[in-house]
Amino acid sequence: MIRDPESFTSFLDSLRRFVRERLVPREAEVARLDCVPDDVVDAMAAQGMFGYSIPEQYGGIGMTTEELVLAAMELSQCSVAFRARVGTNTGIGSEALVADGTPEQKARYLPLLARGELTGSFALTEPEAGSDATALQTTAVRDGDHYVLNGTKCFITNAPIAGLFTVMARTDPDKPGASGISAFIVPRDTPGLSTGKPYEKMGQEGSPVSEVHFDNCRVPASSIIGGKEGQGFRTAMKVLNKQRIHLAALCTGPAIRMLDDAVRFVTERKQFGQPLAEFQLVQAMVADCQTEIHAARALILDTARKRDEGQDVTMEASICKYFASEMCGRVADRCVQLFGGYGYIADYGIERFYRDVRLFRLYEGTSQIHQLNIAKRTFAQRAGH
Ligand SMILES: Cc1cc2nc3c(=O)[nH]c(=O)nc-3n(C[C@H](O)[C@H](O)[C@H](O)COP(=O)(O)OP(=O)(O)OC[C@H]3O[C@@H](n4cnc5c(N)ncnc54)[C@H](O)[C@@H]3O)c2cc1C
Repeated sequence: MIRDPESFTSFLDSLRRFVRERLVPREAEVARLDCVPDDVVDAMAAQGMFGYSIPEQYGGIGMTTEELVLAAMELSQCSVAFRARVGTNTGIGSEALVADGTPEQKARYLPLLARGELTGSFALTEPEAGSDATALQTTAVRDGDHYVLNGTKCFITNAPIAGLFTVMARTDPDKPGASGISAFIVPRDTPGLSTGKPYEKMGQEGSPVSEVHFDNCRVPASSIIGGKEGQGFRTAMKVLNKQRIHLAALCTGPAIRMLDDAVRFVTERKQFGQPLAEFQLVQAMVADCQTEIHAARALILDTARKRDEGQDVTMEASICKYFASEMCGRVADRCVQLFGGYGYIADYGIERFYRDVRLFRLYEGTSQIHQLNIAKRTFAQRAGH
């Protein structure tokens, strides 16, 4: 659902200009510095980018799912690092509060997240609990009107720069699996919370990721998101369900950009006395990219609209994430091919995208986990008939 089509179209136009004029020219610098410079962060905050999905009453833009995916497809047509900088605040780093926070928790933190004054992080994964997140071992033990957290989270996006962590921890050791898990909101300056050195990664330079350690970290009992024990995994699934549609859009933007760059390249470069674009085998690669991008876009928009109508899109969200992330990988591979040897050389930027987008098939549910989920729900639908 688009609330005001006319003003949303002009919003998208100005976002497109911002991405082309302000972000794309800084891509190489961000990769070299391995961070998004403060002036860029400030400009993104001034554009309201940290608050896309945060309700208006808390200072955000309160986008519908359809608006959010359309904005995401524009914003992500530049190095992944830019949108990853704001992406936890518009996704997994705020969504648990938006979905299930108490009015006090929302009022306290969401305005800061919407303005980008706090960066949020979502800490679910652990060394022994990746795809099987319900196996998490971080504990939160009640002690009077506090909980004491102990454990280690790994692979947490924006942890090195985050001011606020959504943390999944086990409050009931007697309940294995999902039902013993609660979600906590933990400010960075809480004694006992520390973050590790940022990992050296395959790509996405400028998007810091690290471990988060809890060593007798005491938080007030009021830090439980929603105020109730045992609801944490349900909250995490709500967050991830919406985020899968959002992430699918964030996989589609880079695919659009890579194809755009590749089309420009094959139009300009000549071999055998003619532009590469005139060779039919080159055209086939371009057509395959364009076809898959269109399919992803249509799938994502359809799912976003259904979610805005209040339909259960759990399976469709998985399909979006699975298809769009795999599609983006195939597009990246073809675009490197279209660039020939230049595709392998850093100066042309396409190899950076190729490395950056590899992560999409791994996080927020690997492709295999989404295949399992889609199959499970397909069989369940059939059994229900
Ligand atoms: C850069 C980066 C950023 C991340 N950001 C965050 C973050 O902000 N917050 C957060 O909580 N997590 C984050 N993650 C963690 C990410 O979500 C996990 O890495 C992912 O869920 C996979 O878990 P794992 O790495 O332990 O792999 P594993 O679960 O060990 O999987 C390894 C392989 O086995 C396959 N596999 C596992 N189980 C099955 C099965 N049942 N059937 C078939 N195949 C299976 C997987 O598909 C994969 O191919 C991030 C990861 C990275 C690398």
